Amino acid sequence: MTHKPRILTGDTPTGQLHLGHWVGSLENRVALQDRYDCYFLIANMHAFTTRADRPDEIRRSTLEIVKDWLACGIDPERSTFVLQTEIPAIAELTWFLAMLLPFNRVMRNPTLKTELEDKGLGDNYSFGFPMYTVGQCADILIFRPELVPVGEDQLAHIEPCREVARRFNQLYCGVDPHTEDAEYPARGGLFPIPEGKVGRVARLIGTDGKLKMSKSLNNAIFLTDELKQIKKKLGGLYTGRVAMDEPGDIHNSLFQYVRAFIRDEARVAELEKKYAAGDNIGDGHIKAEVAEHIDALLAPMRERRAALAGEAGDAKVLEILREHTRKANAAAEDTLYRAKQAMKLDFGPRELVFR
Ligand code: ATP
Ligand code: MG
Repeated sequence: MTHKPRILTGDTPTGQLHLGHWVGSLENRVALQDRYDCYFLIANMHAFTTRADRPDEIRRSTLEIVKDWLACGIDPERSTFVLQTEIPAIAELTWFLAMLLPFNRVMRNPTLKTELEDKGLGDNYSFGFPMYTVGQCADILIFRPELVPVGEDQLAHIEPCREVARRFNQLYCGVDPHTEDAEYPARGGLFPIPEGKVGRVARLIGTDGKLKMSKSLNNAIFLTDELKQIKKKLGGLYTGRVAMDEPGDIHNSLFQYVRAFIRDEARVAELEKKYAAGDNIGDGHIKAEVAEHIDALLAPMRERRAALAGEAGDAKVLEILREHTRKANAAAEDTLYRAKQAMKLDFGPRELVFR
């Protein structure tokens, strides 16, 4: 049997998926499904770090995100869906990994700082919020993947995961600290040192023209949006340019959308040339053209999603999640037991029953 390398990545159910997810991660997931053994995680436990008071909303978003995955072409026959709260080995591994990460290292993580700021969490965030960064190391390592497709904002989170994997392998599996990352498994390490893989667009800006497009920042074009909504949202994208004959900056937020969504290189080059020269081309015209391209991308997704509408669609999603939870638990339990063996905690194998 040939070994397929593994992928682990996922989304937090704090809303619906948007274009940033598509260009930053989903597109890669769909493309890599055949060559890799893919695990896609719904971080529903992490959703509680910022909205513990909204369990209904988290459950709804969990179902909606799976619908988004199916709509954009993730295939449950080829990939495994991981519902975080139903994989107890993740929470257990989180504890063990937390002992191997210095507290200050976790708190100084740049992604964490940006999130606290962007989400306006101030000083009132829960203890669980910074914990999610340790949890994310466990989410990844429990599946022992080689590759983690993420947006640029999450790259800084992959670093502690790599560090903790090296540390575990050195401490409990006796791997020499001078070992090259790629060599860890061959030298007896339990965990491969996973690599982040950033998508075609590392960080798609939101329709506010300032922050990263995010589910929770009210600046997203969702995968479910119709042409009218797409046009309206893009219409609000501020470029600061006032006249059609004013030379425009082709590195502004609008042109990030042009390059991300108009997949005709010659047309992109033409638009860039005209815009830079102020050659009688207005922002409104370009926005309308981009909107058409986004609409063409989303139309087949909307169609597939329509087939999953309502309670019948919910039931189908729940059935997939239940079935996949068994498979995901089998892989996760295997890793956890090996980790416990390495830590001299193997007091007997156990069997999980998920009904
Ligand atoms: P939240 O606002 O709740 O943090 P989010 O929109 O940032 O939600 P996540 O679930 O945190 O979405 O991220 C899922 C994946 O999508 C991550 O790999 C992340 O890096 C990637 N991603 C999210 N937003 C973007 C974006 N605007 N551009 C590129 N990649 C993105
Ligand atoms: Mg995020």
